[in-house]
Amino acid sequence: MSEAVAERFEELYGAGPEGVWAAPGRVNLIGEHTDYNDGFVMPFALPHTAVAAVSRRADGVLRLHSADVEGGVVELRVDALEPQSDKNWTAYPSGVVWALREAGHAVTGADIHLASTVPAGAGLSSSAALEVVVALALNDLYELGLKGWQLARLCQRAENVYVGAPVGIMDQTASACCEQGHALFLDTRDLSQKQIPFDLAAEGMRLLVVDTQVKHSHSEGEYGKRRAGCEKGAALLGVDALRDVAYDELDAALERLGDDEEVRRLVRHVVTEDQRVEHVVSLLESGETRAIGPVLVAGHASLRDDFRISCPELDLVVDTALASGALGARMTGGGFGGSAIVLAEAADVEAITKSVEEAFAAAGFTAPRVFAAVPAAGARRVK
Ligand code: ADP
Ligand code: MG
Repeated sequence: MSEAVAERFEELYGAGPEGVWAAPGRVNLIGEHTDYNDGFVMPFALPHTAVAAVSRRADGVLRLHSADVEGGVVELRVDALEPQSDKNWTAYPSGVVWALREAGHAVTGADIHLASTVPAGAGLSSSAALEVVVALALNDLYELGLKGWQLARLCQRAENVYVGAPVGIMDQTASACCEQGHALFLDTRDLSQKQIPFDLAAEGMRLLVVDTQVKHSHSEGEYGKRRAGCEKGAALLGVDALRDVAYDELDAALERLGDDEEVRRLVRHVVTEDQRVEHVVSLLESGETRAIGPVLVAGHASLRDDFRISCPELDLVVDTALASGALGARMTGGGFGGSAIVLAEAADVEAITKSVEEAFAAAGFTAPRVFAAVPAAGARRVK
């Protein structure tokens, strides 16, 4: 793919690029809606990547082109970039240039052509892949010397402030910092990280990603409500973030929240989800990989019943997969559509896939896209 992206760059801009970079999408193994509560997450990188061919410019011009979007080259001026002025895809790469310049880095322009195999809007973080690939390219070309976690912070700022989407830090950090064959145990409070070996194939298992291909229209508003509810819970409990509620103090904390049932449910999800992440880490570190299945299932129940962000399509994937012998399954990502993950013995993958497809057809849902995900490398230069 990098060859094709470089060739197209040359056609568009008249000379070959200075380099080509790739940054992956991700799936989150466990740790959902914890990243804006200073908690734990555990994503791994997908083999699907955003690939960008990039050259510097000295004249303050930023030219952007995507192979995956209709329309020609978009030309902007780096000193005229204005947060929330752009409702198109170009806001993601422009936002990164804006965030770098805001942070004092002398980025004086660029020509960028990109193409991505990360499905957009499937909860697999195509947006972070786009941001991170541009950030890494500019970091290398302009010799900024920023580390992966610093690039992730800048990309998050681009998405929060420039694009205007209130996302946490997980997706960008996953895309920037994941390593092949590993899941990334990330503490979103201080961005400390630990690479946890996660090689399912060696143990005769697979992790399926089931993209339901649905995105329910109210998802953004609901995300904001959950975030606000978590902040309210933390304020009522007198802590900086829900991360600070100790696992063995959860019952007492819930009692203190009195009859605010909505906030109680949100708090219960976030605190037990952090605990599930730590549980999965300890199981993987002690070689009990199959034992993470029930923890994933408990995570799904918590998202469905307490956090209330599942939907009929996601529940159907999980219920059908478990009924067909999966070791574990849960929705992944923000909720209200997107993708679910299924942990299964390699020998059961075919039967599970067929059951899920049949169940979707019987329910009258759009056919899901199913693929096996192997933990892939994080962002890197490829040419
Ligand atoms: P997700 O990150 O879960 O895939 P988002 O809504 O956060 O979903 O990001 C999707 C948006 O990212 C798309 O609407 C588009 O603006 C942008 N995007 C993703 N991939 C591409 C691409 N290949 N080319 C241009 N824009 C893209
Ligand atoms: Mg996104």
